[in-house]
Amino acid sequence: MASRWVVANWKMNPRTRAEAAALAREVRQGVEELAGGAQVGLAPPACFLYDVGEALRGSSILLGSQNLGWEESGAFTGEVSSAMLRDAGGAFTILGHSERRAHFAENSEIINRRLKHALRSGVQVILCVGETLRQREAGLAFTILDEQLRGALLDLSPGDVKGLTIAYEPVWAIGTGHNATPEQAGEAHARIRAYLKNGFGEAAAPVRILYGGSVNPENAASLFAHLEIDGALVGGASLNARSFTTLVRLAS
Ligand code: PEP
Repeated sequence: MASRWVVANWKMNPRTRAEAAALAREVRQGVEELAGGAQVGLAPPACFLYDVGEALRGSSILLGSQNLGWEESGAFTGEVSSAMLRDAGGAFTILGHSERRAHFAENSEIINRRLKHALRSGVQVILCVGETLRQREAGLAFTILDEQLRGALLDLSPGDVKGLTIAYEPVWAIGTGHNATPEQAGEAHARIRAYLKNGFGEAAAPVRILYGGSVNPENAASLFAHLEIDGALVGGASLNARSFTTLVRLAS
């Protein structure tokens, strides 16, 4: 198995550039002390990309954005382009996060456009998918995963898909303190893997599937022990350098 991938989604935190840079430096120090085998990524808010990129310069920690525009430049108010991300030292982007889908009406078509542009620009993608509690309770979890994958991956070739990372993020587990059990996550990951294999064949075999949703130092070991779980996308626990580096240690 490729090394696990532990990614911090800082969302709309912290409050200042100074705090963002300090958190990045602390994470860097903790990760370098571990000298572990997990790949680490930090996705700060766009306005902190440059400062966090400076704090990470020369380290193995990858810098990423929380979203990505689908054009290089132009009349797209509020968007950040792949060129801007790269200029700050960024290598990856998160796409299709449930908060983008829920609060900013991002649909499959928009996510698919962003994804295609990221691939054309050589930006690595972490594509988030996941069902709400209501959907799970209605027995629709897998249907929703299939639909979100179908929409986001429309018109992609097997060659495009092989470099992707998928994050299974059940909406009911995000920021709630109620993580999916390793079995629930493992089952969903297996479904995602089957979908990819069915649509894209063996080219999809290297795709890493992360779990996201209330991962913390107490539950991470049992999640990482599951064969289907290739790492974690971490919100709340990534804002504390000690907690986050503990997750990196547990993934290494
Ligand atoms: C997220 O928003 O991607 C996330 C997983 O958040 P949390 O870890 O806080 O549940």
